[in-house]
Amino acid sequence: MERKNAWSKYTSKKDSKAVFDFAEGYRQFLSSCKTERECVRFFIADAEKKGFKNLDDIVAKNGKLKAGDKVYAVNKGKEMALFIIGSEDLQNGMNILGAHIDSPRMDLKQNPLYEDSDIALLDTHYYGGIKKYQWVTIPLALHGVMVKKTGEVIDVNIGEDAADPVFGISDLLIHLAADQMDKKGAKVVEGEDLNVIVGSIPGFDKEGKKEKDAVKANVLKLLKEKYDIEEEDFISAEIEVVPAGAARDFGFDRSMILGYGHDDRVCAYSSFMALVNHTKKLKKTACCLLVDKEEIGSVGATGMESRFFENTFAELYNCLGDYSELKLRRALTSCKVLSSDVSAALDPNYASAFEKNNAAYLGRGLVFNKYTGSRGKSGSNDASAEYVGEIRAIMDKDNVFWQTAELGKVDQGGGGTIAYIMGNYNMQVIDSGVAVLSMHAPCEIISKVDLYEALLGYEAFIKYA
Ligand code: MN
Ligand code: MN
Repeated sequence: MERKNAWSKYTSKKDSKAVFDFAEGYRQFLSSCKTERECVRFFIADAEKKGFKNLDDIVAKNGKLKAGDKVYAVNKGKEMALFIIGSEDLQNGMNILGAHIDSPRMDLKQNPLYEDSDIALLDTHYYGGIKKYQWVTIPLALHGVMVKKTGEVIDVNIGEDAADPVFGISDLLIHLAADQMDKKGAKVVEGEDLNVIVGSIPGFDKEGKKEKDAVKANVLKLLKEKYDIEEEDFISAEIEVVPAGAARDFGFDRSMILGYGHDDRVCAYSSFMALVNHTKKLKKTACCLLVDKEEIGSVGATGMESRFFENTFAELYNCLGDYSELKLRRALTSCKVLSSDVSAALDPNYASAFEKNNAAYLGRGLVFNKYTGSRGKSGSNDASAEYVGEIRAIMDKDNVFWQTAELGKVDQGGGGTIAYIMGNYNMQVIDSGVAVLSMHAPCEIISKVDLYEALLGYEAFIKYA
């Protein structure tokens, strides 16, 4: 049973215009939003333009909500939930589009700056699952925040503007790599060696003598002048080291996008746009939930395990004037979820890692994974057959192109998502998302038509689930 290629829907220039236009908006978003904070800022600005109000403001004024109202809530600048209130009782549940906005990367350590051999470097600790050898010898940018003791937050974004310098990690020249090339892939470049080069001009004293750690001192002098940053401010900072530069159209036919952070901003962006661009009246309340920390296990205050979603749901219920603990629990139980995260697209260069009949294919539309997990579905949500049947009907109603897949061959590896955490509320949840080539690499690849079918699928879900 083979699924059709989704480009078959868009054979004329006229038909494909919407696909390419939507992809261009996404390409620009992906180019400028490389941290969870940057994503949240982008989403707030766009949502406010489309009439969404901050739920905190409504709660503060003891305000009320009614059908048709649009609200959003933000958690510590790194996670957010958006809602369109439907006409039905909230006890019937919501239709939730979930995705994550954190991506694999390297984070600066708290005491990162040091000098070695007349070179200044920043020490990192990688975040999420990466093949470390992929992150050397590429241009890198620094994105994030540094917080002064006064509470002042300094935004850092260096390496994206054409006039900015970039940074990077060196690799050993092939001529001297005899020992390195004999190592296992996981050890070719080791985590503690992911040190980012940031300077090499030493400061000199009046007599022209270079003092100890003078390169580091000179970097600190520049940081002080340009950003008013002291070395100690790195202690209270979140600086993410990410690939520098814009996402690009990929292929002669420009059918794909190459960029950093498709996982999982491709699902986050399409889920978000499906919700905020929805204009018709909804029976069921619709929600888009964009979480942080998925790549390190959904833990902490801004991850899916946090009570943020549940608490926000309670506030929302209260603003509808009808809150009780029991009603909230009933409402949570009745929710339906598309828990979206990227899927591995079958890679013809590495086809042996996949099982062809149950793999996702680039260009065949929105992917549904009944289950994820590893070693016998461990850690998976495993959607019920009844719910999968319902999802099939919803997708086909709007002629959405979709496919089903699992992550590679049995016992090849595997992975988890936020789906099982939503499942803990007894919600109906299925994993869905966009297929990606080179997942977790500094530059990942997606198909524009898959992105567009995801948008259509999420729109259909909000309307009919
Ligand atoms: Mn991932
Ligand atoms: Mn992911």
